[in-house]
Amino acid sequence: MKLLSYNYRGLERVGVYVGNRIAHLSRLAGILGRRELAFGSMIELINSWETHGPALHELVARAEENEKDLAPILMAPEDVHHISPIPHPPKHVLCMGLNYQDHVNEGLQARDVQTTKVELDHPIFFTKAQSTLIGHNEGIPAHRVTEKLDYEAEIAVIIGKKGKNIPKDEVYGHVFGYCCANDISARDIQRRHKQIFKGKTLDGTCPLGPYIVPKEDYGDPMNQTVKSWVNGEARQDSNTNMMIHDIPSMLSVLSEGFTLEPGDIFLTGTPSGVGYARETPSFLTPGDVVEVEIGGLGRLRNVIIEAD
Ligand code: MG
Repeated sequence: MKLLSYNYRGLERVGVYVGNRIAHLSRLAGILGRRELAFGSMIELINSWETHGPALHELVARAEENEKDLAPILMAPEDVHHISPIPHPPKHVLCMGLNYQDHVNEGLQARDVQTTKVELDHPIFFTKAQSTLIGHNEGIPAHRVTEKLDYEAEIAVIIGKKGKNIPKDEVYGHVFGYCCANDISARDIQRRHKQIFKGKTLDGTCPLGPYIVPKEDYGDPMNQTVKSWVNGEARQDSNTNMMIHDIPSMLSVLSEGFTLEPGDIFLTGTPSGVGYARETPSFLTPGDVVEVEIGGLGRLRNVIIEAD
């Protein structure tokens, strides 16, 4: 199943893929006589998942069997105004820094740091405010405050069940699903302020999408390709199996004395190939197209636009 959020004439809606096309979930549920599945928001859907997940799978299967009859209500993905699959998460977007050794190494090299030893025994966490969230095909503003806007392809984990002090072996029981994320970063601000929040939280710098795949419909999140492109040129090409801290380890530690809630978004770090660490550093400027693709989660595409 592929779930998304979109904007229709100023209203936020939940959409679901039927084959290669998209249906307004509430409308589909109404037509197929399952009004209890007419969720008005992704968070509402996630909160009802334990009860209604199987019925939603049935609904999509029935819709796909009757795709021809439903054609008048199905939309082509390119005609839908995607927004962040979770437009209003309960807290900041939770993020992991330095979680791929090759990305750690390229950072040391780029800054001409002589040591190759970085303390990575404990995960490095930071956040991006909710105002960073945008959807597939929405513009990433090139804010005037930065000259060094960069991309980071990452797999995002969406929390499905509330929990605190979650043991490692129970983490996946708290996961709802996965999607592509791009942790857009202002490198000059990141360095200047000695603390990375400011450089990571400019408006519109967390593209997420194009859709969420629930964990029941996804393979092993720890063995998926992670790729990115700028203007069609391949920049990152790795696999989640290269992570230093795996998803259960990170979320278990993050949840120590800190409650994770349904709809929380967690970015898991990026592999090597980011712009600032290239032999000739290159940054994103208006008109650039940046794409992120995670195995089984589609391709998230955004264009850099002039900021207001
Ligand atoms: Mg990152």
